Amino acid sequence: MDVEAIRKEFPILHQQVNGRDLVYFDNAATSQKPLVVINALMDYYTGYNANIHRGIHTLAEKATKAYEDTRHTARAFINARSEQEIIFTRGVTESLNLVASSYGRAFLKAGDEIVISGLEHHSNIVPWQIVCEATGATLRVIPILENGELDMEAYKKLLSPRTKVVSVNHASNSLGTINPVKEIIALAHAAGAVAVIDGAQTGAHVAIDVQDLDCDFYCLSSHKMYGPTGTGLLYGKRELLEKMPPYQAGGEMIKDVTFPKTTYNDLPYKFEAGTPNIADVVAYKYAMDFILGLGRENIAAHEHALLTYATERVSALKGVRLIGTAAQKVGVVSFGVEGIHHFDIGQMLDSRGIAVRTGHHCTQPLMDCFKIEGTVRASFAVYNTKKEIDQLVEGLERIINFMK
Ligand SMILES: *Cc1c(COP(=O)(O)O)cnc(C)c1O
Repeated sequence: MDVEAIRKEFPILHQQVNGRDLVYFDNAATSQKPLVVINALMDYYTGYNANIHRGIHTLAEKATKAYEDTRHTARAFINARSEQEIIFTRGVTESLNLVASSYGRAFLKAGDEIVISGLEHHSNIVPWQIVCEATGATLRVIPILENGELDMEAYKKLLSPRTKVVSVNHASNSLGTINPVKEIIALAHAAGAVAVIDGAQTGAHVAIDVQDLDCDFYCLSSHKMYGPTGTGLLYGKRELLEKMPPYQAGGEMIKDVTFPKTTYNDLPYKFEAGTPNIADVVAYKYAMDFILGLGRENIAAHEHALLTYATERVSALKGVRLIGTAAQKVGVVSFGVEGIHHFDIGQMLDSRGIAVRTGHHCTQPLMDCFKIEGTVRASFAVYNTKKEIDQLVEGLERIINFMK
C-alpha cells in the first residue's frame, strides 16, 4: 500500500492547521474526499446537471445513467442480488428511519419487541423509540461487556417469539468494536425476527456481503466512505421492500395518481420520493470505486497496523484509560486521561494541528455504561500514517506533562 501516493489524492490533507501539518484523525465522523470524487461533482455540475428519470433530452439521459451507474456499483459493492434492493437515502440516519418508520409501523404491534444493543449510535436508538411509542412495542437492549464487546449470552436470552426486529451496528463508532453480525443475524432469524445492520463504520473498512450475512437490511453513509455528504443507501431484501409501505410520497415513487387512488412505482423507486441528491449519488460511485481499487483487504490490513500501533503507544501513556478493547476492532482508539477533561485534550491537540473528536459520539447510553461523559477518539482511514500517530502521542505526552 503506497500511502504517500494515496495521500496525494486528498488535497485537503496538505495544509497547515494552527501552524502545523494537519493530522486528520476524525474519520469516524466523516472521511476526507479524494480528487476523483471532487472531480465527479465538478463534472456533473459543469457538464450534465439535469433532473433524472423523466427527461428525454441528452443531459437528462446522461444524468440518469450516471445516477443508475452508482446503483450498479453499489449492488456489487455489498453483493446484493439485485439493483432493485438498493435505495438511495441521505445516509445511515435516514436509512434507519426508513426501516423503522415503514417496516416498524406496518408490521409491529403492542407486545412485540425490538432488540438493539448498548453500543448503538443515537440514530439506531431513537427511530425505534418512536416506533415503540407509535405501536406499543418494547425496546430491549443487549448489554455490553467490560471490553466493549456485546454480551452474546445475554443476547440469546433476550430473544423470544416476541422479538420482531434486531437492529445493531456492524462496528461501533465510539469504541471500534466489530460485532459478530453474522451470528447475531442467524440468531435473530431463528427467533423469527428481521435483522437490520448499521454499517456506517464498516463501509470504508470491511468487505460487506449482504447475501453471506443474510441480513434483511443494511445501511451505509457515503460521507464516511470517502464520498460526498448527504447520501448513502439502504439495502433491503426484495420480498420485504415489496410488502413495505412507502416512507415518503411524491415524485418518482408514484406510478399513477388519481384523486381516488394512487399506485406506487416499482422498486427501488417506490422509496425514492422527490428529486434525489443526484450529484452526490453520482459522485458516490467514485468513492466506492476508489475503495474497490485499493482493495478492502489491503485497507483493513493497513488500518489494523495503525490501530495496533496506536493502541500500544497511547495505552502506555501515564493516566490513560482505553475505552473499548474488543478483540475485533476497526481503526478507532477511544480513551480518557485521568484528571484532564476530554474536551481540553481535544482543544490542545487541535492547537497542534491534530483533529480528534471528543464527547459522547452520539452514544450517550454507551458512555453511561462506562460511567463517563465522553472520550477522546482518534479514528483512522487509509491515508493515515504511523508518523501521524507519533505526532498524536507526542502531543498527548506534552499535554499530560503540562497539566499535571
Ligand atoms: C455516523 C453514524 C451514524 C449516522 O450516520 P449519518 O451519516 O450521520 O446519517 C449511524 N451509526 C453509526 C454507527 C455512525 O457512525
